[in-house]
Amino acid sequence: MIIPAIKKARLRISQLDRTVVTAVVLLASVFPVELFPNTPTQPKGIDGQYSGKQGQVIVVKIPADEQATEVRGTFLTRAIPFFPDPRSAGAPGYVGLLGIDMQDEPGTHELAIDVQSGEQVRKLSFNVLVVKEKFHVEHLTLPKDKVDLDEKSRARWKAEQEQVKLALAENSRLRLWRSDFIEPVNGKRTGIFGSVRIMNGQARSPHNGEDIGAPIGTDVAATNDGIVRITVDHLLSGRGVYVDHGLGFYSMYFHLSEVLVKDGDLVRAGQIIGKVGATGRATGPHLHWGVKLNGARVNPYALLDLPFKNGSSPATTVAAPETAAPVPAVPVKD
Ligand SMILES: [Zn+2]
Repeated sequence: MIIPAIKKARLRISQLDRTVVTAVVLLASVFPVELFPNTPTQPKGIDGQYSGKQGQVIVVKIPADEQATEVRGTFLTRAIPFFPDPRSAGAPGYVGLLGIDMQDEPGTHELAIDVQSGEQVRKLSFNVLVVKEKFHVEHLTLPKDKVDLDEKSRARWKAEQEQVKLALAENSRLRLWRSDFIEPVNGKRTGIFGSVRIMNGQARSPHNGEDIGAPIGTDVAATNDGIVRITVDHLLSGRGVYVDHGLGFYSMYFHLSEVLVKDGDLVRAGQIIGKVGATGRATGPHLHWGVKLNGARVNPYALLDLPFKNGSSPATTVAAPETAAPVPAVPVKD
């Protein structure tokens, strides 16, 4: 008979199963982690390596070998959102803009990426070598009350910092910038990004933007498409505009004599949003141009080198300043 033989075989398998399960359970109670790891642990940096200097922007590309629904990265606790690669040429995939803060610790840090496809999450790990930048040292002489803030000014400055922090906590979840970034003012760079600043003989925070010297009233253009998150008139930055370009990417424009946009306005690359001035703490008329990328203070000029130059952006012409007055001879900064 065939049937009893099958039954016998089944019985043997089920006895074997029980034995195996018992052995596994016993072993698992002794070596729980080794036998049943929740996620396979992979060496850090197994998927590749990038490197960049403090203040620079690294373009990280992940191939689209699957239908990803979301790609997100983490670098030194900062969230790095990825977006479908807008460049028409080349392989499809996702790109993330990794900003290296001007004061990120030099050395190797992990960029961990989660590629989500429906319920599935694929984990990637890259090593990012942060290279120390040699920043300049600048000595500035300013009116004493602009450097040594009294109690009242200090309270005002703190409240203003808080106001900006709150406004920038809200960012567009969509990428608003299109392609080419442009220089907001064609002028002379008078204050260098990352400079260590000695004001009236005292060491201060490094310079977190670039200063572009230009005559009062020179047009200031938005570097790319975005939404005006907040306009301010602050103690140190003077009249200023913060533009949200989406996905944690902000540009800011300080010391303006005039602001020509309002909170919530949509702006286009090249649109005139204000005029050069010397409001706030400034030694003369200039634009302070700053950029924050997912919490990292990066060199705004790094934007001009980003490899997103396709024909999909709107016209990005910047009107030439009406006055052709020469740039002031005295270096203007802050
Ligand atoms: Zn400045």
